[in-house]
Amino acid sequence: MNPYPRPMGKLIGELSKLPGIGPKTARRLSFYILGQSKNEVKTLADALLEARDKINYCSICNHLTEGELCSFCESDERNLSEICVVESPRDVVAMEKTGEYNGLYHVLHGAISPMDGIGPDEIKVRSLIPRLESGEVEEVIVATDPNAEGDATAMYLARLIKPLGVKVTRIAHGIPVGGDLEYADEVTLSKALEGRREL
Ligand SMILES: [Zn+2]
Repeated sequence: MNPYPRPMGKLIGELSKLPGIGPKTARRLSFYILGQSKNEVKTLADALLEARDKINYCSICNHLTEGELCSFCESDERNLSEICVVESPRDVVAMEKTGEYNGLYHVLHGAISPMDGIGPDEIKVRSLIPRLESGEVEEVIVATDPNAEGDATAMYLARLIKPLGVKVTRIAHGIPVGGDLEYADEVTLSKALEGRREL
């Protein structure tokens, strides 16, 4: 016999679809949510919908933003001579946590993976090129994940960018090979940034 009323079973089911949430955590969250007032639950539901509705991609770098441009592209305090290329908006957050980087970003939303049929046209790589044509950018720092896809993407970027006379570097593999940039701790990531090599 199902121990939960139908709507609660549905709530548990939806929560357990979230990354990192197993059935046990989903049950715990469901009991917690049911213990809250209607108003508190509404605030949570509204926050979910508002985030989904109002967050777009920056028209320059593809990072998350509420307006046309993200806070980095809009800022006049960032170093315009460096662009750090990452796979996902989560990696921007990881880089910012190091406190060591003050340039701009370019978010690819993926990595080249011939095995999965993902080529340069499936990720946001070509929009990087016009950004390099003003002559202001001196270095592109490739901070894709240290795995086969990240490597393939870095090689592709080097071939694409070097003819434009812009230096291309790759962050050092202080991050465990096969790992994920997002989960590197701040010290490891800032050391990887410091030890970057020209491609
Ligand atoms: Zn931006």
